[in-house]
Amino acid sequence: MRHLAPYQSGLWLAEYGDIRCQLCRIYRSIPQSQLVPTHPSPSPPNNYSFFTKLRQQVNNRSNSGLLCSHCHHSIAWLPKPFEVDIAIGTSLSIQAATYYDYPIRQAIRAFKHHEDMTKLPLLLHILRQLPRPHGCHQDNSVIVAMPTTDQRLVKRGFNPVSILAAQLSKHWHIPLWQGVERIDDTISQQGLTRAERLGNLNNAFALIENPPVKRLLLFDDVATTGSSLQALGHALSGEYTDLSVINSKNSNPYHLSAYALAHGSQS
Ligand SMILES: [Zn+2]
Repeated sequence: MRHLAPYQSGLWLAEYGDIRCQLCRIYRSIPQSQLVPTHPSPSPPNNYSFFTKLRQQVNNRSNSGLLCSHCHHSIAWLPKPFEVDIAIGTSLSIQAATYYDYPIRQAIRAFKHHEDMTKLPLLLHILRQLPRPHGCHQDNSVIVAMPTTDQRLVKRGFNPVSILAAQLSKHWHIPLWQGVERIDDTISQQGLTRAERLGNLNNAFALIENPPVKRLLLFDDVATTGSSLQALGHALSGEYTDLSVINSKNSNPYHLSAYALAHGSQS
């Protein structure tokens, strides 16, 4: 018998679990396609007939609803993207799906630090709110998940960001690329000032191979000041690569944009 990785139970819950909302556990969940972000909840979430709902669930497993309309609309989606400088004259735009507040904060922390896989369906719902970038497809783009160090992987036993990035890849139909490694075990970013964070992350990333495409979609779970994504973007900006072909043509050979589940305030 094949053993499932622990996170697969969370994915199983997301796809085949009950059709209750993953947040309130009271109302029935609504398929993503019926959640129009620009309109506030127009009707009570339990207006759908049971059989209509069930049919939708069966027909559309891969995009089944995970939250009810009420809970979905109670969350502030898609904060304005913020920018960080990654090279001279080049900035990186970071789009988060929502803010790092209750109940998202608790769900992310439970998933990351306590391997609480029952939170994975909620995190997948959040992930699915990220707008797929225009013009990006599997031939011209890759997703670059924030790498972790071997030490952290051993300590934690799993890599939460890679699990989420794999689901984003599946959702957007854009492949993952793992050509960057985290080369030092920098101290935790928590509690550091912005300047300390950047210094801490300096030289933390190294390219192991050239990106196969021009458009790189960076992904992390939480972006607070954006310093981790900034350092990753900096490593990928071409400024420090020794790729003479690329450098001779253009100092910014790649088009980078960044995505996160949540944008946290620094507190
Ligand atoms: Zn709900």
